[in-house]
Formats: sequence, structure tokens, C-alpha cells
Amino acid sequence: MTVRIEEVARSTYLLDCGQDAKYFLPQVAYLVIDDRPALIDPGSTVVAAELLPAIGSLGVDAQELAYIVPTHIHLDHGGGAGYLVQRLHKPMVVVHPRGADHLADPAKLVRGARFVFGDNLEQNMGPVLPVPRERLHVAGDGEIINLGSRDLRIVFAPGHATHHIAIEDSLSGGLFCGDALGFITDAVPDTPFPVGLPPFDADLYLQSIDKLTALSPKVIFYGHHRARTEAQALTRRLKEICLTLGEIIQAAIGDGLDDSKISERAVEYVKSFASLSALPLMVQVGISGYVQYYRSRSQPSP
Ligand SMILES: [Zn+2]
Repeated sequence: MTVRIEEVARSTYLLDCGQDAKYFLPQVAYLVIDDRPALIDPGSTVVAAELLPAIGSLGVDAQELAYIVPTHIHLDHGGGAGYLVQRLHKPMVVVHPRGADHLADPAKLVRGARFVFGDNLEQNMGPVLPVPRERLHVAGDGEIINLGSRDLRIVFAPGHATHHIAIEDSLSGGLFCGDALGFITDAVPDTPFPVGLPPFDADLYLQSIDKLTALSPKVIFYGHHRARTEAQALTRRLKEICLTLGEIIQAAIGDGLDDSKISERAVEYVKSFASLSALPLMVQVGISGYVQYYRSRSQPSP
């Protein structure tokens, strides 16, 4: 794995580890350099191990990292946090209150992740090591973390996951959005696809899109993609896709179709703008989260 490094905003570096061969997920982290440097979305343990020399090559001693900030605790974003705090003496891991227990004791997180990544996930992504409680910084919505000459502001952004945050950067006016503003692939670069892993909340996802769009980010730092400046157009397109998918799936439920037929209808729609081979994992898993969400809402609660 070679890490491609690109300065995407002032003192803000994209660390692109490329696409992993197993899950076809582009693995992307960001290094924010300041008096107290921060690493956003360290990725899995396998990815995090690759980031250490890349950070060093930018003239930053990884031992001086002050913060590790996974946008959420899914293994492809935060699975390597425990590995990093074991090797680095300083950094605190900034996490949403709903994610803290799972980073401290990742057993349940790993069990849940097998649904997406399969039984061999630890072989492919590396072991998921716990983060000691004293190394966790449980963040509040709107909390500001000062790095020296710039602030990172934590913005809760649930939907993709209850424990999802976005991070606003005062220096660049950019927003690190993890999976909250969709999944983009270079094959379809102007169309973010909603990432609806079960348990997914389609309405909260939409609310978070509105909340993040209202911040008018000058640049969006995508979790599996790169930095993009067309924030308004990209979030508008994402919202349109979310709404249309929701309508298609709710109509199919209303027609009494079973889950596989509902997914077929949703996939037909997706194929109108993207080839499935460009979005293999995200399309299949993303649609199942949508179907589950609207299915559960269409049933009266017990
Ligand atoms: Zn995720």
C-alpha cells in the first residue's frame, strides 16, 4: 500500500491509501497540521499502520499528534484508533457519546461489522484494539477543539450512524464529513450516493445533510473520496437521490413487494445514473439499510 499525499487546504493533507482489494473501499484519512496536530478518520488498523510513515514524511512526529478524530466508529473510519493510541503516547480519541463505549470495548462493534465486512474482517482490516477510557475525549455537539491557530468544531450528524460527527475547520472553512454526505466514486464523480448501512435512519440522514449544507462549507473533505469545492451542488444532488430512493422504496412497500423485489426497483433507479460495478458494496448494503428503515416504519410498533 502506498499512501498518496496531497495538500488539499492550508496545512491540511489528504492521506490516500488507495482502494483496498477486498472491499473496494477507497481508504482516506486527513492530517490537520498545527501546534496540536489532528488525524481525521484513521481507518482500519491496517490503514492506520500505513499512515504513520506518511505523517512522518510531512515533517510531523506522529508522537506529537494531539487528537485522533474518527467521524464515526465504523471500522473503516475508526477501527485503527486503538492501534494508534497503543503506539502513540499523546493523542486523545475524540468520539461521539454514542461511540465511546464501543471504542473502549469493541467486541460488539466487531460483531456488527461482520454484517458488512464478512467473517474475515480482522484478517483483512487488522485487529480492532480497545481505546483505554482515559484516552477517550467524549465530544459534545458544537464543541470547539483548538489546535493552536485553528479550531475544529464538532457537529453531530446522525443518520448513517447514531455516533456520526462532522468536523468544521475554521482555517479552511472546510468540513470533514465521513459518510454523512454520501459516498462518491471517481467513476461517478458528481453523484454522492447515500450510505445506508443498517441500522440506518433515512430521515435523520436527510436532516444531517440539511444541517451540514447550511454551514456553507467552502470545501468538503469526503471520507472515501477527496476534497471537493462544489459543496452546494453535491449536497443538492445527494438530497435528490435520498428523496427519490425513499419514494421508490415506500411505493414498493405499499405495493406489497418483498425485500428483494424492492431492492430491484431501487437498483433500477441507481443504474439510471451509475454502473453497479462502480458502487458494488455501497449499493447493495446501502439499499438494504433503506429498505429496512422504511419497512420498520411501515409496520405498526408492537
Ligand atoms: Zn460508516
